[in-house]
Amino acid sequence: MLRIAIQGKGRLNEETLNLLQEAGVRLPSAKRTLLIPAKDFPAELLFLRDDDIPQAVADGVADAGIVGENEFLEKQGGAEMIKRLGFGKCRLSLAIPKEEDYKTLSWFNGKKIATSYPVVLSDFLKKNAIKAEIHTISGSVEIAPGIGLADAIFDIVSSGSTLMSNHLKEVETALHSEAVLIANKSLNGEKERILKELIFRVDAVQTAEDKKYILLNAPNSVLPEIFNILPGMRSPTVVPLAQEGWSSVHSVIDEKRFWEIIGKLKNLGTEGILVVPIEKMIL
Ligand code: ATP
Ligand code: MG
Repeated sequence: MLRIAIQGKGRLNEETLNLLQEAGVRLPSAKRTLLIPAKDFPAELLFLRDDDIPQAVADGVADAGIVGENEFLEKQGGAEMIKRLGFGKCRLSLAIPKEEDYKTLSWFNGKKIATSYPVVLSDFLKKNAIKAEIHTISGSVEIAPGIGLADAIFDIVSSGSTLMSNHLKEVETALHSEAVLIANKSLNGEKERILKELIFRVDAVQTAEDKKYILLNAPNSVLPEIFNILPGMRSPTVVPLAQEGWSSVHSVIDEKRFWEIIGKLKNLGTEGILVVPIEKMIL
């Protein structure tokens, strides 16, 4: 049994549960207790505050966890980062009062910076040879400059609207964060095996996310040109149609190149183009 710590409530909760569900780690509906065994996978989910997840995994209270990279880096040591998960994106940035004239990081020398991420901030300042005073507070960091508690802040930014309403401007970004899968460093053989299976499944979900399955009908004469446009996983599948001289071509394409590829295929005289989402993909 693998115990996975996830955020019980908050910004990461829903997408974490969605990802696990797509990977076949489903929860019985109804009751929400602290610890719930999954229905059809040898795992149980432990619901925690995000701040507590890195430590719980490092200490072996949980075997694995899903948490923001910002929290993982802040609670240094112990757990091991396994995989970035592509959701819960945000950045940790330095912001200063709007009216300040800002040119380089040296502005921060001798200044007082309020933050809930003292470890990440102190690493960043050290790397950039800036000597500033770090003032750790646990919430409402953005009001610190306004009430004279600090000269600047270091905090999570996503849209920037919180900064704006507090008359602050973002001047440097120290970290681009997203949700990450972390694990305890010394799992036993059985847990290691279950974690590997989970990673395999998450990979399959992620690989499928930016791919589409495409089917189309084409005159046989343009097939070579179609093969140039549609690589497929190995090569496209070609099935003859009942109508002489025509084939059905199946392939997998990148979502990013979707419109470009469709345009080229239409120009070749293909018909009946069908594009369908792929749920999982195992390479
Ligand atoms: P908890 O009660 O679990 O301690 P919290 O209030 O500390 O929750 P949330 O606001 O739910 O945390 O954010 C959880 C994580 O979501 C953050 O640590 C960060 O990694 C990520 N995140 C993504 N976008 C944002 C955002 N706009 N603001 C804050 N966090 C964000
Ligand atoms: Mg928290």
